Amino acid sequence: MTRFNPREQIREMSGYHSPQVDVPVRLNTNESPFAPPTDWVQSIGAIAQSIDWNRYPDRAAAELCEAIARRHGVNPNQVFVANGSNEVIQTILLAYGGAGRTVATFEPTYQMYAQIARVTGAEVVEGERRADLTLDPMEIERLVVRHSPAVTFLCNPNNPTGLVEPRENLEALLEVASGIVVVDEAYAEFADWSAMELVSEDKPIAVTRTFSKTLSMAALRVGYVVGPTWFINDLRIASLPYHLDAFKQAATIAALQYTAEMEQRVAIIKSERGRIESTMRDLGVHVWPSGSNFVLFRTTDADAKNVWASLLRQGVLVRDCSSWPRLEGCLRVTVGTEAENSAFLAALAVALAE
Ligand SMILES: *Cc1c(COP(=O)(O)O)cnc(C)c1O
Repeated sequence: MTRFNPREQIREMSGYHSPQVDVPVRLNTNESPFAPPTDWVQSIGAIAQSIDWNRYPDRAAAELCEAIARRHGVNPNQVFVANGSNEVIQTILLAYGGAGRTVATFEPTYQMYAQIARVTGAEVVEGERRADLTLDPMEIERLVVRHSPAVTFLCNPNNPTGLVEPRENLEALLEVASGIVVVDEAYAEFADWSAMELVSEDKPIAVTRTFSKTLSMAALRVGYVVGPTWFINDLRIASLPYHLDAFKQAATIAALQYTAEMEQRVAIIKSERGRIESTMRDLGVHVWPSGSNFVLFRTTDADAKNVWASLLRQGVLVRDCSSWPRLEGCLRVTVGTEAENSAFLAALAVALAE
């Protein structure tokens, strides 16, 4: 039987893989190491029972948008929610990308921008970071002026480098931008500044957030974007009807009561991050200063693949970035619980001595 061919963009792709291995210490996907607040977990049964399961959910997710708008001091019409911020990105690219349009990224950065942009038919143009993985504002200007992208992604803090983007870089981008500027703030709570305050009706800037990282709810699949009303209206048109199920809307509203508790956890992660960074530097490893809940590092004397395999043999899974373009020799570790981090650091010392 003949094999039916998918679209060219799909044929050229291998998909996004983050292999999960069953090990005691899993530090490869930047999730929170903590379970969500117990009170929220215990309220889930009652929330599920309160749903009118025979009815479609509120299509606009109005109450949820209001709750998120309150959190950021914006108008509910400036909020669009989807099933994870990846779906937010997809909806933005369905509305503003597509065939005949250009989408800009600054590499290395989160791989899903280029992946989803291509799947939805746009052409991707890649700006380059410096050798130390920081981004030169001149490069932003060069890329944007040359290609006039319909959408430009800036990830702050940047995944997989962990580096916080200087505010001047976003200002440089806004100065020359011809299309929408999307600032992905999946890790904003761990950083020292946010672009959220720049959102206004007359600027083409949109800021995305997720419940998957800081808020310990990766399994719930909720993310959102805050942007100008006209932009949010376009996303509502591009999204599927009833894309957010009723349970998710109610459970997410309930989860927003626990943001104070989540902030305490952020403080723990940041302090553990400092401990990981300094211990690794003492071990002679090159560490990029992180404003996030993960740390990118390069083992200068040992081969990264060997270090990764040795860590795995010792029951610690980190992300192997060493075959990714521009990240030769690099591994990325998510900040875990104190015990997990200690296990990782001890295993790393062994791996480096092998
Ligand atoms: C993890 C991550 C996301 C993910 O999002 P979901 O809300 O789980 O879809 C988005 N952007 C970046 C940079 C991430 O690292």
